[in-house]
Amino acid sequence: MQITKPHAALLASPGMGHLIPVLELGNRLVNHHNLHITVFVVAASDITTEKISQLLDSSPNDHLDVMLLPSVDISGIVDPDTNMVTKIVVTMHESLPALRSAISGMKIRPTALIVDLFGTGAMPIADEFEMLKYVFIASNAWFLATTIYAPFVDKKVLDDEHVDQKKPLKIPGCSSVRFEDTLEAFLDSNDPLYHGYLSVGREISTADGILVNTWEDLEPKSLRALRDGKLLGGVAKAPVYPIGPLARTVGPVSENRVLEWLDMQPSESVIYVSFGSGGTLSSKQMIELAWGLELSQQRFIWVVRPPLENDVSGSFFTVGNGSMGTVDYLPDGFLNRIHNVGLVVPMWAPQAQILEHPSIGAFLSHCGWNSTLESITNGIPMIAWPLYAEQKMNATMLTEELKVSVRSKELPTERIVERQEIEMMVRKVMLDNERLGIKNKVKELKTSALKASSKGGSSYNSLSQLTQDCENRLQCLKVKAQG
Ligand code: UDP
Repeated sequence: MQITKPHAALLASPGMGHLIPVLELGNRLVNHHNLHITVFVVAASDITTEKISQLLDSSPNDHLDVMLLPSVDISGIVDPDTNMVTKIVVTMHESLPALRSAISGMKIRPTALIVDLFGTGAMPIADEFEMLKYVFIASNAWFLATTIYAPFVDKKVLDDEHVDQKKPLKIPGCSSVRFEDTLEAFLDSNDPLYHGYLSVGREISTADGILVNTWEDLEPKSLRALRDGKLLGGVAKAPVYPIGPLARTVGPVSENRVLEWLDMQPSESVIYVSFGSGGTLSSKQMIELAWGLELSQQRFIWVVRPPLENDVSGSFFTVGNGSMGTVDYLPDGFLNRIHNVGLVVPMWAPQAQILEHPSIGAFLSHCGWNSTLESITNGIPMIAWPLYAEQKMNATMLTEELKVSVRSKELPTERIVERQEIEMMVRKVMLDNERLGIKNKVKELKTSALKASSKGGSSYNSLSQLTQDCENRLQCLKVKAQG
């Protein structure tokens, strides 16, 4: 085996929200840190070779190879109504043999394997092939701290006090997690997900390093807590590398009617509304949102997908390519009335390009971490509308700590947010005095994000450290191969 420059492999779990940050990490490592990268993509119905090449076309790279692992059939293992997380976990597990044989067959074997939150099951493969193993958390440090601390929490505290009595979950050195913001995985100790999640928390700490999509100045408190050892009760811990923000880099803009429409709108006059790659609303909530947008009299772009009554992450695996479809679930006459004021885009929009556009004034978002970072790095105020996973924690951080968003008083997942409240929130972030304060805060974050990622910045240096680790390992392997 010929070993040349350091080569790292990344493993992306199913879903665009997982693939996008992994590809960004790959690009960053190739462009700024001179690594060769292979990205292994676990197939899901929304990830086609066409979609991957679209993502790559926006940033072509000779030193970034992408390998789509063969798709696995999980229909005999889980039933179609199983929740999205279980489907991802099972898909990842079933894909491990293909990953192993792909790595084993590589001419230049990677020096490191970097997996995401759902990929910790692949870490033994890294051990088998003497690779360094890293976990990449495509979310923030507070969520990471919660995840690795959870296995050490007394069961009584987690189940009785936090879940049953709805008391906040204290995370040493970090903000507590309120019951209303808690992760679904904690809610039912009889669900295999609960135990699976705690195992993942334990596995993360056994990595050679943990990469997290945040930066020092955004979350100093949580990062300090992750480093000072209190979270793991003195157990050996992996070094934490804040490497963010890894927000989407946009390549040449292809022709697109949404971007053309934006070109014709006044500066900062449009609110962009999107619930990520999988978020879904109930039909009643869709109607209220439509009315709220209309009543606000603000220009908007709204990425819609068909309503689902009891599953806020219902579309996660089924995102299409944005075909027109029918949108008969919107109020009667809505499309005619909003003609010229709003655009309704079915299924999928070029979000990164939209958020970069000078006509965008605010973002009503489900607070997925990629969307959040795309908003912050473009200096865009937000309306936080969290739906699932760690999005409620993100919304709390954005609204109460960072003060870059407004939020409904109650949780959109618990009740219908009514049109008047939506109208009021839209006007707040687009027009009212409150906009100015939020805008200043988010601009400060944009500047600190840029500083962290620039050469010599804290996140840049974290990735340099990772690269150095890979180089050191490569040297060791060379010595071993010679001797
Ligand atoms: N995205 C997009 N167009 C859409 C919806 C989503 O390009 O219509 C991209 C978005 O820019 C982001 C990712 O998909 O990079 C969604 O990730 P996020 O973490 O925000 O949410 P998730 O989809 O994981 O819930």
